[in-house]
Amino acid sequence: MVASVLNRADEARAACDAACRSGGTVGFVPTMGALHEGHLALARAAKARASFVMASIFVNPTQFGPSEDLSRYPRDLEGDLAKLSSVGVDAVFAPTPIEMYPAGDQTRVRVGAVAEPLCGGFRPGHFEGVATVVAKLFAIVGPSVAVFGRKDYQQLLVIRRLVRDLFFPVEVIAHPIVRESDGLAMSSRNAYLSAEDRKKALSLVRGLDAAARRFAQGERRARELERIARESVERVATSIDYVEARADETLEPITEVSGGAVLAIACRIGTTRLIDNVVFGVDAPPLAGRG
Ligand code: AMP
Repeated sequence: MVASVLNRADEARAACDAACRSGGTVGFVPTMGALHEGHLALARAAKARASFVMASIFVNPTQFGPSEDLSRYPRDLEGDLAKLSSVGVDAVFAPTPIEMYPAGDQTRVRVGAVAEPLCGGFRPGHFEGVATVVAKLFAIVGPSVAVFGRKDYQQLLVIRRLVRDLFFPVEVIAHPIVRESDGLAMSSRNAYLSAEDRKKALSLVRGLDAAARRFAQGERRARELERIARESVERVATSIDYVEARADETLEPITEVSGGAVLAIACRIGTTRLIDNVVFGVDAPPLAGRG
């Protein structure tokens, strides 16, 4: 069992303050629980950079739209605590919704242009919910380092912008995507997939892999790289929200991959919405070296 599970904001703050007073540094890993190896890799990365690591488990209602999966989002607090304990996380903050949004709460954080394209267009209010809860969590935990996954690439850029714009004294570490042995990006939502849909879900990483290989062979036209990835998912997806190549730091539209670029996919396999991405020139083709 982890050293402590804290449900109240003042308890979480006191634990982090105590770690700082005794000369430590605080690392932070925010999650929504139903943890997998991807989350644990983030926790290990935080552990390598800070003496005291706090993880949070909070299914944040303000980042879910009215027709999204808030009520059925997978939850497994006991299992999560055992996993976090096994990687040396020192404390877990697991607040209730009312603790994070008490009666009278009325402040929201809205990040600008970087939150608008891609998922921003398909999940209205999502990044406002994310930025708001992360600002609250940073204010409570006061970390010097926080680790986020590149799996949620746009979210990572939204957090980086939030940290710069609001002068949070936090170093944001971006962790590469952790994948299953067959290449599927790990996600708590993979639990929703039927056996048949689990196979279809590989179309995302296959499409990204094919595009990344063409990039490595010299293809630089953004539309062509998108076409290659889209071809893979459109055979099996129930619907496609986007398959888009964009500038990797701003998410501005591009026609050529000259500076850094990310190719990002969001689509539905069955009823499950999945996302995945590859950053050209940074990530190897994601299926390279897999059986
Ligand atoms: P979530 O619990 O899905 O909100 O994710 C919490 C954190 O874990 C976020 O920073 C995610 O980007 C990160 N994360 C989730 N899945 C993965 C993965 N497969 N690889 C790396 N990071 C991940």
